[in-house]
Amino acid sequence: MEQSKHPGNPQSEKTHPETAHSKNITSENTHSGGLPPADDTSGVRPPRILAWETTAACNLACKHCRGSSTLNSATGELTTDEAKKMLRDIRETGTPIIILSGGEPLMRPDIFEIARYGTDLGFRMTLATNGTMITQEIAQKIREAGIQRVSISLDGRERTHDTFRCIPGCFSDSMRGIQNLNSAGVEFQINTTVSRFNVEELEDVHAFTKEIGAAAHHFFFLVPTGRGAELSEFEISPEEYETALLWLYGISKKTTLQIRPTCAPHYFRILRQKAKEEGVEVTPKTHGLDAMTKGCLGGISFGFISSIGDVNPCGYLPVLAGNVRKTPFKEIWENAKVFNDLRNYAAYKGKCGDCGYKTVCGGCRARAYHETNDYMEEEPLCSYVPPGYALKQARKTGK
Ligand code: SF4
Ligand code: SF4
Repeated sequence: MEQSKHPGNPQSEKTHPETAHSKNITSENTHSGGLPPADDTSGVRPPRILAWETTAACNLACKHCRGSSTLNSATGELTTDEAKKMLRDIRETGTPIIILSGGEPLMRPDIFEIARYGTDLGFRMTLATNGTMITQEIAQKIREAGIQRVSISLDGRERTHDTFRCIPGCFSDSMRGIQNLNSAGVEFQINTTVSRFNVEELEDVHAFTKEIGAAAHHFFFLVPTGRGAELSEFEISPEEYETALLWLYGISKKTTLQIRPTCAPHYFRILRQKAKEEGVEVTPKTHGLDAMTKGCLGGISFGFISSIGDVNPCGYLPVLAGNVRKTPFKEIWENAKVFNDLRNYAAYKGKCGDCGYKTVCGGCRARAYHETNDYMEEEPLCSYVPPGYALKQARKTGK
């Protein structure tokens, strides 16, 4: 299965969070540049990006899969009519980007009918796929359904990718899919899941992504849930995380591709720290979309809808906000407790609670949840110690 669930998702690019920019499958542009006040409360805003897990079925068995997909669909997946009703309900909130994810969305026979329906409702429809099923005919159907961008997962060159995806030959199959998209004139981006498997190869994967003509390269940082939970040993340490994000910051200044770290919220802290060192103010002019978005978007401007209609802040945070079969999406989006908790930065705990960067970063709420069972707790993979927090700790311990 693919990963975008985050954010989404060891992750399936299918459900990861992302954007309102017309060229972006997943980043948003609601945040102004500079460091907002630490006690800022975001309140309810319209969703910018929604990932729908169209099916739990997948033709691959990737080690890092968010949803532990199988060849078979889950019982009770939304029907075509239910999916269309869900899209009409979402339309009541605005026109967020819709990411059709999975599992593998191309396993769903009505995927193009639903994509066309969403396009006609005015959504920017995107597709997150492993690419292995994209024949010339499918690429044509993708185009005809009005799908504006396809994200394809590539975690490394052939050997690394096939090992991580557990299917020999799937790299070649994905490359064939990319060629077919190119021939059909469909824009695509590459999603790479960063883990100990490939952290040394990122530079090479990025160069390759440029060579094959991608419009963007998104880096998904492993969130160990689903099948990925067995991969905790492949999760990078806070120090390796910091190094990878600093590398990404350096690349962002030289590359011609749009890049985005996903589910790596503290990138936006690093970006501001580096800009300060360089004496540069973070504005759309100096940092483009990065100046207008924030780290964790889950529940704030991004949401995830599972194959059976459950709504969560993201594909990695299994806290139920509601179900679209029982409650109109708008009502869930505006009233669910978990969403309103996540929008209240003043209630964040631990280091994140005392952090001056919390409104541009926010820490990964899913990692906090998996570590402590409390999604408001601090992000466990951030090495930054906010001065206010250090002072409090020193007072507590008398040191
Ligand atoms: S909670 Fe974590 S995995 Fe989910 S959207 Fe936020 S950063 Fe990504
Ligand atoms: S302490 Fe939390 S809010 Fe601050 S930079 Fe780290 S993860 Fe982000």
